[in-house]
Amino acid sequence: MSAIEKFEEILENRHQYAKDWKQRTGGKVTGWLCTYVPVELLYAAGMLPVRILGTHEVQDVTDRYLFPTVCPFSRDALAQGLKGRYDYLDGLTMSRTCSHVQGTFDNWRNYVPIPFSHYIWLPCHRESPRAVPCLRGELLDLKQAIEKFTGVTVSDEDLDKAIELYNTNRRLMRQVYEFRKSDDLPITGAEAMEMVVASQLMDVVEHNKLLEDLLAELPNRKLDREAGLRLMMIGSEMDDIVFVRMLEELGCTVVIDEHCTGSRYFWDDVIPEEDRLGAIARRYITRWPCPAVSSEFNDRGDRIMQHAKDWDTQGVLLYQQKFCDPHEFDIPSLAQNFKELDIPTLVLEFDVTIPFGQFRTRIEAFLEMAELEVF
Ligand code: SF4
Repeated sequence: MSAIEKFEEILENRHQYAKDWKQRTGGKVTGWLCTYVPVELLYAAGMLPVRILGTHEVQDVTDRYLFPTVCPFSRDALAQGLKGRYDYLDGLTMSRTCSHVQGTFDNWRNYVPIPFSHYIWLPCHRESPRAVPCLRGELLDLKQAIEKFTGVTVSDEDLDKAIELYNTNRRLMRQVYEFRKSDDLPITGAEAMEMVVASQLMDVVEHNKLLEDLLAELPNRKLDREAGLRLMMIGSEMDDIVFVRMLEELGCTVVIDEHCTGSRYFWDDVIPEEDRLGAIARRYITRWPCPAVSSEFNDRGDRIMQHAKDWDTQGVLLYQQKFCDPHEFDIPSLAQNFKELDIPTLVLEFDVTIPFGQFRTRIEAFLEMAELEVF
C-alpha cells in the first residue's frame, strides 16, 4: 500500500485506528479542537492527539445545544460526540480560538461522558510581549493537569523527543509541498489534504515514516491527468476530500493552500529553548495565525500573497464555513489583493453538506473564465 493510500485508509477508518493504537500501546487518546492545542505536550505525556472532525452528514442532534447560526464544522463536530462516535476518548482539549467551536467544547464537556478535559486560555493579543509568558503559564497548567490524570510525569526529555518528532513531521510535509511548485505535479490537492489530515489523526512516528516513503516516491510519481489551472485554497476548516476531488476533476489542481488542514497547521516549527514550555508557547503565539486569533490581517495577508507567488498560483478559491465570521472578514481584503495581481478569485460558502450541482456549475464557469485570462 502506498503512503497516499495509507493516508486515505486512515481518514476512512480514523476511529478504528485510534482504538487499535490504544489497544496496542495501552496509551490514552485525547481529542483536540482547533490547531492551537500543543500536540507536542499531549504526545510527550504518552497520549495520541486526535483532531475532532465531522462527517459532513445532515444531523439534528445538536439543535438543542448549539444555535443554528453556529458554523457547520462546529455543529458537525459536536454531533460526533453526542452520537458516541468518539466514545474511546480519554480526554478532550481546546485552546481559546473562536466562539463557535467554543460552543462545541463546552457542550461536549457538559453532555458527553469524558474522563478528562482541559481548556487552554490562548491570549487574545498575540502581539503583546505578555502573550508568550501568559500561554507558557497555561501550558504548565495543562502539563500538571495531564500528569495528575495519567499519573505520569512529563520530563524535559519527553518534551524534547516530542518537539523533535513534530518538527520533523512539519519539515517533511513542507518538503512534500515543495513538489507542488513543479509544472509536472506528482501529487494532487486532495492527496496533499489527506496527508495533512492524517497527520492530525495518527501517531507522529508512524506518520513520519509514511512521509519518508512518500518523499522517496514523489520524484518518479506521474499523475495520469492534466494539471489544468494552478489553484490556491484559502479559508476555514476544510477536510472535505470529496469536494476537493470534485474540484480537481473539473480541470484544475490545488497546488497550495492556507487553512488549518493545510499549510497553516505545520508551517512553523518549535525553536528549541532551555525552557521547553516557553518554546512551545512561543511557537503557538508566533505561528501562522488563524484569523480567529489574529486581528492583524497584514501578518497573514503578506504570507498568503508570498505563497501564492512561490507556488505560481493562477486562481484562488476563497471559501468559508457558513457563519464563519473570522474567515468571512478576510475575504474582501484577500480578493482585492489578488485582483491587484490579476489572479481571479471564486468565493464559496460551505454548509454541512455540499450542493455539488450548484458548486460544479460555478466552478466550471470560474475555471473557464480564469483559463481565458491565464492561458
Ligand atoms: S474559525 Fe470558522 S470554521 Fe473554525 S470553528 Fe470558528 S467559525 Fe468554525
